[in-house]
Amino acid sequence: MNKPILLSTPHMSDRELEFVKEAFATNWIAPVGPHIDAFEQEFCQVTGAGYAAAVSSGTAAIHLALRLLDVGIGDEVFCSTLTFAATANPIAYQGAKPVFIDSDRTTWNMNPDLLREALEKKARIGKLPKAVILVHLYGQSADIEPILAACGEYDVPLIEDAAEALGATYKGRSPGTFGLMGIYSFNGNKIITTSGGGMLVSDKPELVAKARFLATQARDTAPHYQHSEIGFNYRLSNVLAGIGRGQLQVLCDRVASRRHNYEVYLKKLGDLPGVEFMPEANFGTSTRWLTCLTIDSEAFGFDREQIRLAFAQQQIETRPVWKPLHMQPVFAECESIGGEVAADLFAQGLCLPSGSNLTDDDLERVINAFRDIHSLQFK
Ligand SMILES: *Cc1c(COP(=O)(O)O)cnc(C)c1O
Repeated sequence: MNKPILLSTPHMSDRELEFVKEAFATNWIAPVGPHIDAFEQEFCQVTGAGYAAAVSSGTAAIHLALRLLDVGIGDEVFCSTLTFAATANPIAYQGAKPVFIDSDRTTWNMNPDLLREALEKKARIGKLPKAVILVHLYGQSADIEPILAACGEYDVPLIEDAAEALGATYKGRSPGTFGLMGIYSFNGNKIITTSGGGMLVSDKPELVAKARFLATQARDTAPHYQHSEIGFNYRLSNVLAGIGRGQLQVLCDRVASRRHNYEVYLKKLGDLPGVEFMPEANFGTSTRWLTCLTIDSEAFGFDREQIRLAFAQQQIETRPVWKPLHMQPVFAECESIGGEVAADLFAQGLCLPSGSNLTDDDLERVINAFRDIHSLQFK
């Protein structure tokens, strides 16, 4: 039996354990400590962000960002539809309503023209959204400038969900650092991981300070426990921040490995009929967090789901592209601006195994399996 090849697995280097041992040796096991401070600073150096607060997950970071903007009951928040549910769930935590915006075909990310039209329409009825959450999907930056411009025109703050895009660029800078706030994830399947964790960044120190305050149960400065606001238990632990520091040192290698996976796949599979890889926009580099492609079933001979199941029989884990949020049962009642492009990408899209620790043999197995699936129809 072949060993399973998984979609994206954690990949440690040798430094993480040293940092973790240091946390043990100094007994900094708490959600405060020197690794957290250092991780936040080093994260700012790597991304160019002004300030950063390390938290327990990317989802927590989004929730804090919405809370900082006073998003509340009845408010609307615009959100990319083609993404993981974690992007939009915090909108619901706050009692607000997501309005989903479709993708464009060149980036698979939020269509700037649709966003502008939607803002214009909402402005006319006096119901502008409290925020826009922009996702940089699969490590591909959205076209940030026109999106920022549209948000600026209507004075709506932009939150960037760069959970999958740490190490990507947009015109030479890090996605996640353009909007009022940005968030990143260190979940186990992301580019770098702390097993679980996230980061909230902003150029506004007061926002990041308030995020830290809210993330540690909103404790007022007092010797006794005093609270004048509702807080959360969202801080990252010092032990996990140690893992993050080690991981940050190898971020460039991890991105290079993922891009290498994509390049090998493209070279060896690009000629298959009906197979088209997720495009890379000319304004920057994608992390290729996952190598994604679309399959035209008529040209290829099988559809996305048949291919996924055939891979599974070979112990190879592939995944459909995210099911758009406007198609999710839980968000069925929510407004959606367009959605056909994302629906199409979902119907045709497949993610290949993409971990930074895949071996040449692993890649070859995936490639051979894909070619075998295609040739099955001639049998
Ligand atoms: C992983 C992910 C998140 C959530 O991050 P967690 O750390 O798992 O909470 C949010 N948005 C996107 C696009 C993601 O891929």
